[in-house]
Amino acid sequence: MTQFAFMRWCLVVSLSLLLVSCGVNPSAGKTLRVATEPAFPPFEFQGTGGELQGFSIDLMNAIANAANFQVNFLSLPFDGIIPALQGKTVDAAISSMTITEERAKTIAFSRPYFKAGLAIAIHADNQNITGFDSLQNKKIAVQIGTTGAKKAQGIPGVQIRSFDSAPLALQELLNRNVDAVINDAPVTLYAINTGNLQGIKVVEQLLTEEYYGIATAQNSPNLPLINQGLTKVLNNGIYNQIYQKWFKATPPQLPAKLAIGNQNGAGTSGIFNSISIILQAFPTLLWGALVTLQLTVLSVVLGLVGGSLIGIIRLSHIASVRWIARAYVDFFRGTPLLVQIFMIYFGLPAVAQELGFNFNLDRLVAGVIALSLNSAAYIAEIVRAGIQSIEIGQAEASQSLGLSPVQTMRYVIFPQAFRRMIPPLGNEFISLLKDTSLVSVIGFEELLRKGQLIVADNYRAFEIYAGVAVVYLCLTLLSSQAFSKLEAWMNPVQRQKKYDRELK
Ligand code: GLN
Repeated sequence: MTQFAFMRWCLVVSLSLLLVSCGVNPSAGKTLRVATEPAFPPFEFQGTGGELQGFSIDLMNAIANAANFQVNFLSLPFDGIIPALQGKTVDAAISSMTITEERAKTIAFSRPYFKAGLAIAIHADNQNITGFDSLQNKKIAVQIGTTGAKKAQGIPGVQIRSFDSAPLALQELLNRNVDAVINDAPVTLYAINTGNLQGIKVVEQLLTEEYYGIATAQNSPNLPLINQGLTKVLNNGIYNQIYQKWFKATPPQLPAKLAIGNQNGAGTSGIFNSISIILQAFPTLLWGALVTLQLTVLSVVLGLVGGSLIGIIRLSHIASVRWIARAYVDFFRGTPLLVQIFMIYFGLPAVAQELGFNFNLDRLVAGVIALSLNSAAYIAEIVRAGIQSIEIGQAEASQSLGLSPVQTMRYVIFPQAFRRMIPPLGNEFISLLKDTSLVSVIGFEELLRKGQLIVADNYRAFEIYAGVAVVYLCLTLLSSQAFSKLEAWMNPVQRQKKYDRELK
């Protein structure tokens, strides 16, 4: 056999092996990327070792086993799952997602795999809220993008606070910042029964009857496979075993198909449609931008006052005082801002509650406190470095002219140092402006959260987040322009030149 003939023979053999293996089982070895939001016990959550567990996780593994495919779970925020399915970043999602007509316009659902419903959670001592009608004009916490959030929107006079996950919404109730939470009944009941939600009860009557489905993109070839696996698991008793394991009960009868069915492809695409979606969202986004600016300006002003004080204390001759300022800077620079926000908004009231005080923080106040404490640490370093950058000869000269140390600082050192501080202060302002987006985690409706709320409604993630980015960009470009102007204005040489030009 010549070398060429041998290569051709090898090629034929390997191709036929490939064909045979495909013929045996087309889905064997296929791995599906399955999204889940693991903060919804007992359906999907993380064990103490970080491993995924829960009813949905066990069920998905059983389905994969039955339909002969592999599963690669990916954690995503709940409101990011539908955009991820649309963008085909994931192949499927099992995340206690209720099958709704609205969602079925953008994604497809498997046959129902669980019967659930929404319930109102309130404090055990609350006698006023007895049903849906008594929620009027109340404060309610919900998880963003959920059926609970949709239900809350229909209540007259209600104030809604939306959080990224159900546990955060429930924590808000525990801290007595809201009157009620609308959430999936099995999840709230599980949290109460496991002792994680003490002093909370569920209003007896469920608000809705809902069915969960496994979601895929529309027309996904994986959907028939998933349905086939699910049907098998439902029929061979494995579903019952899993249900028994997590709910200690026998499962109710599930319909094979929901009346709404999978409605193909609403949602038009195209550049004009995208532009019109952004334009529609613009007024809401601008409103969010105003809130973002308010948050930034308040925090920068407070941060500037605190930061200047700490920066000056950092230069103190007394070692212990210097050390305290240093510890402050190290702590607030060395821990993530997000953790600080959580500690201030959720942590402090929870501790106070345990100590017997009834204390809670307004979201704006908590956001401003967290942002200004954090930025004070950075500003302190800018102030310290600015002062230290002025040559020692300047101080010596002014003292030899008879100025006191305070006068030296006020008239000689600080004006020069301040000019050097402007560029880094500008940087700090811009970072702070962008960091305000982190405050969205406490349900504060600034620019990013406004965008998230719109996406939770229309599932147009790309267009809306592009709109959000453009608004942030306009804000940061405007601020950097303002700082450049300030810098030029503070420069005596340039000011003199401008003055001379005007005289001519
Ligand atoms: N079942 C609810 C919904 O689909 C909540 C799901 C969740 O938070 N994981 O909206």
